[in-house]
Amino acid sequence: MGPDWYCDEVIPGNVQVEVLARTEHTLAFRPPIPGFGTDHVIVIPTRHVSSLLDLDSDLAAELLATVQEVAAQVVDQHGGCQVLTTLGNEQHNKHLHWHIAVGEGVARFVAR
Ligand SMILES: [Zn+2]
Repeated sequence: MGPDWYCDEVIPGNVQVEVLARTEHTLAFRPPIPGFGTDHVIVIPTRHVSSLLDLDSDLAAELLATVQEVAAQVVDQHGGCQVLTTLGNEQHNKHLHWHIAVGEGVARFVAR
């Protein structure tokens, strides 16, 4: 995976992914190699945005609507999920992406 696998491979269609939703400026898909346990969907803007910190409000609304639609499907299917995006040195791919993830390997937040 290169530094921007989404712009380099996914958006141009160089890699086969299972598309779950697509809007004018967003794409939701299952990656070919799941990054998390039971289910894992990635939602991205289809033009380059480096992170949540660089996201403008129009695209934010469209992107969140896609996240919401797919997350609802995942909750129906699996009973729950985590929705997260990473920043800074926790963000390995410098193209804004949301993970909708179910199962082992997902961060566990422990009640205190
Ligand atoms: Zn990009």
